[in-house]
Amino acid sequence: MSPSILIAGGGLAGATAGCMLASAGEDVTIIEREAGPSHKICGEFLSTEAQTYLGQINFDVAALGGHPITRLRLTRGDQTIETQLPFLGLGLSRRVLDEALLAHAAASGAKLLRGRAIANIAGDGAVQLADGQVLRAKTLFLATGKHDIRGMRRPNSDAEALVGFKMHFRLHAFATMQLKHVISLILFRDGYAGIQLIEDGQANLCLLVSRARLQRLGGKWLELLADLCRECPYLARVLDGATPLLPQPLTIYRVPYGYVHKPLGGAPKSVFRLGDQAAVIPSFTGDGMAIALHTAHLASASFLRGTSADNYHRQLSNDVSAQIRRATALYGLAQNPSTCGLFFHAVRLLPKILSIAAGATRISDRVRLAI
Ligand SMILES: Cc1cc2nc3c(=O)[nH]c(=O)nc-3n(C[C@H](O)[C@H](O)[C@H](O)COP(=O)(O)OP(=O)(O)OC[C@H]3O[C@@H](n4cnc5c(N)ncnc54)[C@H](O)[C@@H]3O)c2cc1C
Repeated sequence: MSPSILIAGGGLAGATAGCMLASAGEDVTIIEREAGPSHKICGEFLSTEAQTYLGQINFDVAALGGHPITRLRLTRGDQTIETQLPFLGLGLSRRVLDEALLAHAAASGAKLLRGRAIANIAGDGAVQLADGQVLRAKTLFLATGKHDIRGMRRPNSDAEALVGFKMHFRLHAFATMQLKHVISLILFRDGYAGIQLIEDGQANLCLLVSRARLQRLGGKWLELLADLCRECPYLARVLDGATPLLPQPLTIYRVPYGYVHKPLGGAPKSVFRLGDQAAVIPSFTGDGMAIALHTAHLASASFLRGTSADNYHRQLSNDVSAQIRRATALYGLAQNPSTCGLFFHAVRLLPKILSIAAGATRISDRVRLAI
C-alpha cells in the first residue's frame, strides 16, 4: 500500500519532518540513500536556534556529547579578533547528529527506507528509485539537501565558483586547548575556513576556496592546505602536528547560496521543499541547519493545518529571505578585498559588531514562534 507521505532524503530537514508528521499520526516513509551513519560536508556548528528546534521535537541533542561554543575568533593574515557569541553554539559531527535524528524519527513512527537512492521524480510526484521501483504518495516532502533530483532541480546557480572541503583532525594538545569553546573563522584571499572542536575532542575544518586557486594547485587537497597555511599563520599553528581522521576530505561544488524557492505555476501542488531544497544561506554565518529545521517545522505544521504547498513556500520565503540577504551581504563584505580590510578594522574597533552581525543572520524568535 502507498504511504500518504513520502519524504525524499533523511537528513536534518527530512528526519525532523518525518518525526513531526509521524508523531501527529500520519503514515510517513523516509527514503534515505545512505544505509548507515555517514559524514556530510558541513561546518558542524549547531546554532542555538537549531538546538531549540531539535528540543521542540524532544530530541536530546545535549546527550550526543557535542562541544559547547561560546566565543568567535576571526582571523585574517596575522590579525585576530575575538568576541563572545550572543548565544551558545555546539560543535557536533553530522555523522552523529543525523544518524541519531533519523533514529528519533523511526522511534516516532516514521518508516525508513535506507540505502535506497532516488533517481528521478516525475511531474505527478511519482518517485523512482535507482533500482527501478516507483513509489507514489499523496504528498511529497523533498529534502535531499545539496543534491538535486532529476525532475525537481533547483534553477542553475550563478554562484561563484567556490569549492568546499571538510576534514576531521585530531589536533595537537596545545591547539586543542586553544580551540576550547571557540569557533575560529579564518578569512583568506579567496575564501574562508571554519575550525572548531566537535565530540570526542576531534576538530572539524571546513573551508570554501575559489576553484581558480584550487586549479592552480593541481586540484590537490594537501597542496591547498599547505598553501592556505602559508597565507594564514593561525591555521598553520592550529594544524601543526594534526592527524587527519578521514581517508580523504569531503568536497562540494557550486552551492546555490542565496537561493529561496518561489512557487511557480507548473510545479506539482503537493510537493513541499525542505532544507537546502527550499533555501540556502551562505555557510559563513553557520545557520543553514537552523533554516533546514525551520523548514521542517513550518512545512509539517502547514501540512497538518491543510495549508497548500504554495502557501507554505510563500510563508517560508517571507520568513528567511531578509536573513539570507543579510548573510549574503555580510559574506560579500568580508570577501571583497577592498572592503575586507575596512570590515576587519571596524570589528577591531568595535568587536560587538561581530555579535550584532551574528544575531542579524540568525533565524529570529519571531519567525520561530509564529509557526
Ligand atoms: C561548506 C558548508 C558548510 C556549512 N556549515 C554549516 C554550519 O556550520 N552550520 C550550519 O548550521 N549549517 C551549515 N551548512 C549548511 C547545512 O549543512 C545545510 O543547510 C543542511 O545540511 C541542510 O539540511 P538538509 O536536511 O536540507 O540536507 P542534508 O543534511 O544534506 O540532507 C539531505 C539528505 O538527503 C539524502 N539524499 C540526497 N540525495 C538523495 C537521493 N537521491 N536519494 C535518497 N536520499 C538522498 C542525503 O544522503 C542526506 O541524508 C554548511 C553548508 C556548506 C555547504
